[in-house]
Amino acid sequence: MIKYTNQPKELEPYNIQEDLSMKEEITALLIKEAFKARKMAYAPYSNYLVGAALIVPSGNIYTGCNVENASYGLTICAERNAIFKAVSEGQRHINAIAIVGGALDANIASVEDDSFIVDGDYAYPCGACRQVMAEFLPESGDIDVIVARSLDDYKLYKLSELLPGVFSI
Ligand SMILES: [Zn+2]
Repeated sequence: MIKYTNQPKELEPYNIQEDLSMKEEITALLIKEAFKARKMAYAPYSNYLVGAALIVPSGNIYTGCNVENASYGLTICAERNAIFKAVSEGQRHINAIAIVGGALDANIASVEDDSFIVDGDYAYPCGACRQVMAEFLPESGDIDVIVARSLDDYKLYKLSELLPGVFSI
């Protein structure tokens, strides 16, 4: 029997702009999931581990980690990994995405004790990932992008702030 490792979570339909209490709850959940995903990062060359978690309109959450390669250019970022997983399961819209990243030794607390934290600066999505996010805008027309160092220490942006002048056809 096939077992899926990334079971969709059961959540109420999500509208980050209409329900601020939901927004905080969802933000915390996405950060938590991103930290969990970060533990799966395959980054033997940079030792910089990244996790990402995104939520789609149905409430499903998809996660990803960075996956490096000996041929460096083949490396994929955590954000695009999560997005491609969602898209490959039929999703076409992203409401919000959380990203946590830091060097291997910046893993101060474990996932189990619920006090995740990474040292150093926030891990911002690279330009390529920002462009890929822009391909899958939700009905609101913008995506919330959360960069976090812990559950309480995060910054919230709109994708339109991080990627002005997006390329489109
Ligand atoms: Zn990237």
